[in-house]
Amino acid sequence: MNPDHKQAIVVGAGLAGAAAARALADRGWQINVLEMAETIAPGGSGVPVGVMSCHVSVDDNPLSQLTRDGMQWTRRFAQTHLEEGVDWLGNGVLERRLSPGGADKKPWQEPAVDNVWHGHVQLASDEQMAQAGLSPSATQALWQAHGAWIKPQALVQALLKHDNILVVTRAEVESMQRHASGEWHLRVKNHISIPNMGSSHTYSTETAPHVVLALGAHTPDFLNQVLYVDHMGLHPIAGMVSWGLQKNVTPLPPFAVNGHGSFVSGVPTLDGPAWYTGATFERNAMKASSDEAAQNENQQRLAELLPAVEAQLQTQFADAAQLKWWGGVRCASVNRMPKVGPLDEAQFPGLHLLTAMGSRGLTLSLLCANVLAAQMEKSKPPVSESLLKAMRCQLT
Ligand SMILES: Cc1cc2nc3c(=O)[nH]c(=O)nc-3n(C[C@H](O)[C@H](O)[C@H](O)COP(=O)(O)OP(=O)(O)OC[C@H]3O[C@@H](n4cnc5c(N)ncnc54)[C@H](O)[C@@H]3O)c2cc1C
Repeated sequence: MNPDHKQAIVVGAGLAGAAAARALADRGWQINVLEMAETIAPGGSGVPVGVMSCHVSVDDNPLSQLTRDGMQWTRRFAQTHLEEGVDWLGNGVLERRLSPGGADKKPWQEPAVDNVWHGHVQLASDEQMAQAGLSPSATQALWQAHGAWIKPQALVQALLKHDNILVVTRAEVESMQRHASGEWHLRVKNHISIPNMGSSHTYSTETAPHVVLALGAHTPDFLNQVLYVDHMGLHPIAGMVSWGLQKNVTPLPPFAVNGHGSFVSGVPTLDGPAWYTGATFERNAMKASSDEAAQNENQQRLAELLPAVEAQLQTQFADAAQLKWWGGVRCASVNRMPKVGPLDEAQFPGLHLLTAMGSRGLTLSLLCANVLAAQMEKSKPPVSESLLKAMRCQLT
């Protein structure tokens, strides 16, 4: 098989895998997506709703630069492929400037016209502060006009809807080898469940000259146990979101609020509009705790982020029958940047990585997938050399 053949297997059908499949399919590639679960977006991307916003930093660090561009990529796709008000709402994000302990950070100066943040971030107006139940004389908040809340599963579904993409679920990649022909051979365990008879499996082999690993929190183990290489400091961070249906509450903020955990309300569900807040952070855990302590942690963070909102939701937090939760796992890197590109061109030709989206998969996946697709086509990626370097995979 000619390695220039535009054919690839993408492993993992979360935000990263779906975005990679789409970026390649849009460039004419034929893509098979293999997902071990029985549905798409069962992992970190299964979070019911997420916030898309820039990482704001005074020194405009690489993550800030990447998120600023990333938001535009996701926003453009959402505008044309998702239903506004149902799957997403792009009406801005209010960003509180709170440190991890909940105290106010140094005041932000309104960016001048020649500042990189101009047009992306401004000081929140008195009206926006009031809508969030905050007092402008007591604290400061920023307004990210391009921010949004998005349902990640809807985004994944829309990304995978393409004639060049075939999705196979219940297909777990157990091992992989590159043959002399230049093709990768993936041994796939196909999970079968027969009603009332339990589960079984068969094995098959999938082949392609290029493979993209988009395994989220499973990446470190896969690197260690399947490819026998270093996990590059990638690590799982489990997290839990608290949520409830909006019953008998006076108006909640009409936009998403971020900065010390996050809060989103007015999200349509089958049972009516719902609010969501969180999430917890459990480093190196592959399963999120959902006990009372974890719920209390989300409530406490909400009390610091939006005291007036927390006061309204206290009864729901106190009633286990009304309080719901969702748990999942993110993949993070040491420098908090995603890992994008060839794993190691010399050792593993044709094998690429797209992972470590941290808590910003919505903001980063589409841009990073297009960076990867450009690299795979040997064309110019849509980010600077320094950002490419910060995202490079480096085996030690
Ligand atoms: C509690 C919580 C809150 C979050 N909130 C936000 C938010 O507000 N905003 C935001 O942008 N992001 C948020 N995120 C993060 C976001 O969800 C992640 O950045 C994103 O899901 C990463 O996508 P991914 O495709 O890399 O990983 P995943 O969605 O985990 O996808 C990896 C996929 O690979 C599959 N897989 C793994 N191994 C194999 C194998 N061997 N064979 C086949 N398939 C395999 C898995 O089943 C999975 O479907 C949150 C995450 C959590 C957990």
